[in-house]
Amino acid sequence: SRKGKSMDCIFCKIVSGEIPSEKVYESDKVIAFKDINPMAPVHILIIPKEHIGGVDELNESNAGIVKDIMLVAKHLAESFNLENGWRIVSNVGEDGGQTVRHLHFHLLGGKKLSVELA
Ligand code: 5GP
Ligand code: ZN
Repeated sequence: SRKGKSMDCIFCKIVSGEIPSEKVYESDKVIAFKDINPMAPVHILIIPKEHIGGVDELNESNAGIVKDIMLVAKHLAESFNLENGWRIVSNVGEDGGQTVRHLHFHLLGGKKLSVELA
């Protein structure tokens, strides 16, 4: 069993392959896959393979993964031809609209995105 795996976490199950996903990137530490309910023409979720609940569970020991994820986002934005721009966002907790408690960053693009911060 993998380090930090949470038994009832759907994204840990996507990491293990127990739940299928449309993967668009994979490294030893990070995977990216298409969101099942896309909000834009390109809507990809980028996650650490290690289970971290959210940005609120980052610390000096585990936050290095965020740099890797941002560089994967840049790489995927280029692969998906998002030269007109794109957005990366992570929801945190109930008020933030987080529905899956496994750290993930939404990569959104392919249209003019609405600016709706609150
Ligand atoms: P959150 O609301 O936590 O910021 O984002 C969770 C995202 O995960 C949502 O956009 C939702 O559509 C997506 N999602 C939830 N379950 C699955 C799944 O089983 N497969 C995939 N590919 N995406 C999922
Ligand atoms: Zn998890």
